[in-house]
Amino acid sequence: MTALKHFYETFQPSHYNLYIDVNRATKLISGTSTITGDAKEANVLIHQKFMTINSVTADGKPVTFTTDNENEAIHITLAQPGETTLAIDYTAPLTDSMMGIYPSYYEVNGEKKQIIGTQFETTFARQAFPSVDEPEAKATFDLAIKFDEQPGETIIANMPEDHEENGVHYFETTVRMSTYLIAFAFGDLQSKITKTKSGVEVGVFATKAHQPKELDFALDIAKRSIEFYEDFYQTPYPLPHSWQLALPDFSAGAMENWGLVTYREAYLTLDPDNTSLEMKQLVATVIAHELAHQWFGDLVTMKWWDDLWLNESFANMMEYVAVDAIEPDWHIWELFQTSEAPMALNRDATDGVQSVHVQVEDPAEIDSLFDGAIVYAKGARMLVMVRALLGDDALRKGLKAYFAAHQYGNATGADLWAALGDASGLDVGAIMNSWLEQPGYPVVTAAVKNGQLTLSQQQFFVGDGQDKGRLWQIPLNSNYDAAPEIFKDQTVTVGDYAELRRTNGKPFRVNVGNDSHFIVKYDETLLNDILKDAGALDAISQLQILQDQRLLAEGRQISYADVVPLLPQFAASERAVVTTALYQVASNLRKFVSPESAEEKQLQAFFNKLSADQVARLGWTAKAGESNDDQLTRPYVLSAALYAQNQTAIADAHALFTANADKLAELPADTRGFILANEIKHFGNEALFDKLLAAYRATADASYKSDIRGALTGTPDAALITKLIGQFEDADTIKPQDLRGWFRGVLTNEKGEQAAWDWIRNEWQWLEKTVGGDMEFTTYITVITGIFRTPERLAEFKTFFEPKLPTPGLTREITMDIKVITSRVSLIQAEETAVNKAIAAENN
Ligand SMILES: [Zn+2]
Repeated sequence: MTALKHFYETFQPSHYNLYIDVNRATKLISGTSTITGDAKEANVLIHQKFMTINSVTADGKPVTFTTDNENEAIHITLAQPGETTLAIDYTAPLTDSMMGIYPSYYEVNGEKKQIIGTQFETTFARQAFPSVDEPEAKATFDLAIKFDEQPGETIIANMPEDHEENGVHYFETTVRMSTYLIAFAFGDLQSKITKTKSGVEVGVFATKAHQPKELDFALDIAKRSIEFYEDFYQTPYPLPHSWQLALPDFSAGAMENWGLVTYREAYLTLDPDNTSLEMKQLVATVIAHELAHQWFGDLVTMKWWDDLWLNESFANMMEYVAVDAIEPDWHIWELFQTSEAPMALNRDATDGVQSVHVQVEDPAEIDSLFDGAIVYAKGARMLVMVRALLGDDALRKGLKAYFAAHQYGNATGADLWAALGDASGLDVGAIMNSWLEQPGYPVVTAAVKNGQLTLSQQQFFVGDGQDKGRLWQIPLNSNYDAAPEIFKDQTVTVGDYAELRRTNGKPFRVNVGNDSHFIVKYDETLLNDILKDAGALDAISQLQILQDQRLLAEGRQISYADVVPLLPQFAASERAVVTTALYQVASNLRKFVSPESAEEKQLQAFFNKLSADQVARLGWTAKAGESNDDQLTRPYVLSAALYAQNQTAIADAHALFTANADKLAELPADTRGFILANEIKHFGNEALFDKLLAAYRATADASYKSDIRGALTGTPDAALITKLIGQFEDADTIKPQDLRGWFRGVLTNEKGEQAAWDWIRNEWQWLEKTVGGDMEFTTYITVITGIFRTPERLAEFKTFFEPKLPTPGLTREITMDIKVITSRVSLIQAEETAVNKAIAAENN
């Protein structure tokens, strides 16, 4: 059996004529896929999944075929190899799986409606039309679509509509492209359209559940992103239009279908008059990410899924490059430092993590490749290192050549390194392969030994790890010229420390800018030298000290008790990036205290001490013209004050709630979530609970929805927790795409942890059936792992998940997660006494 053969080896399509008829009423798809291509052998393999194949002809003559569901295939026997046109007549069910062609549900003015959209990455085009559904099998497509059309409905696709005849919509022929990037959608849509300087039509589409102004922000960002990329890549946007479509049901964040990008509503539509800056920044980076793919991923595509990182790491870097260029005042790289950097550093420290580049064949394993912390975040950090080494001139020159050489075709990582190497004169591949092919990252130890400043590298682990002697080619970015530019050996002696310190006139540091993917362990001499004037360091350096010390403590290389006294030094910073890092560390202390214990009271007092001056400075209400930093800092310090049970903060939030009780949606989005959460926690009752749940169902504003979710999941009332969990499987209230956030909320609530844990164990089969095919399914396990911290929970986790180890796509996640919880449990047992002593000492 040729189970794992690439189908492209048997048949190489050049053109598709697709006729697809979607009937929403009967939930049936019927169609004909006519594929012209080169049969490399007489027995060819065409992908299909969940289909009934009615007939197959080759060049007009019926041929024998068998349907093979196990391998998602149709085996077709031809008279001979060579140029052939296959016509495959089929039917398929229209299901709610958020894969292939699927409906999205929503309400407008109490009326239930649906729109149809598509999601074909990774291997779901084969559920929509028979095809060679592999990224390398690029072809042109003529798309014709019929549906049970109602007056006023709109249909859109990768290319503009050419004409309509007898209710069938015919679209212009596409450029040469991969199947996973085909998309179309139809329904009762509203849109706003503009044009780039170069004449590309840019549009935003959404259901009419949204106010028209909710499309404006995305339209502006999309237009300026495309203009930026056309300039940066020096390669024109290759299609006539770029549509952005918000789908009410969407499993990932967004999807870069060529010319018709689809998004979760939360990542496209927003109220420009009442959305937090943080949310606007997030939406802008998602849009910029997808539009970066229109070239990197769509125009040039990875040859096979093992090079998925090429697409995602690159787009994940470019989203920041683009947003930094179009909104320079946002300092968006600071978001990279507080989100992607710690995400990558945390996950990549667990033994058993995947490398960025992974060999993969089985479709069930392909989805598990989308490890966001590795393929996206770590991969982006790798490319940030490359960018820092090359500079933008060489990067752009290399990219231009890369696009020119591979456009409308496919490429591998080696092709990119070669193009960047030619442009820069550096052996980029040699440096990057140590990061790409090896899992994990190094801790660089800087120490003064016998008067000599020395550096050494060793793989960094949180929890048990097997040291295999891995070495990396590390761009050091030291502030001392005597340190090597690329550190590739196990150890290096930089020189006489006293003399270096004197001639340089400043404390020794490496990884200045925090652009390289490693952490630093300074010995006492060097660390004290840095810390004695830490307040004078730039904000990223301050963040880096906090992040690295926290990781070293997680990895048991220093004591968490030594991290505690560092925090007050940074508490007065007016830079949001420092405050964010500070509270990321402070929140990590919560694992050392039991709920409502004397130790927690001490920790709350410490949070109060850290936040009090900032709360007094910023207050609950934004001041006219205040800085971006103040806007971004306020949520962190208010959240800290509320955790601290600061009575003034609780009363202030309650007063704001009372004054706005009849217009809660209009509370400022920056603080609304805290005000609602505070009310539910301290003043809640069933009537308020029901009122907010009804508001959740009624609003189309994703920020408001998220604030309500955060509030309701924090209820301390056992009866209301039961009531809430009773809604988990009601898709009319909580959409499957949003369920993980609700589950996480209840599990994080110490009063809800048991109930949420019971629910997921009892309902695992339902969950698997509902979202099991989803590429983010495994993150339900990651969510649990992020919270559990006792030996009892570890034992329960193992009892439940160990039997699931053989499940394709879950093996790695379960194995890693057991290590993560085990290491947390042992860290707490070893350190809780010392940590709580250190916290108490800070309060005296
Ligand atoms: Zn992407």
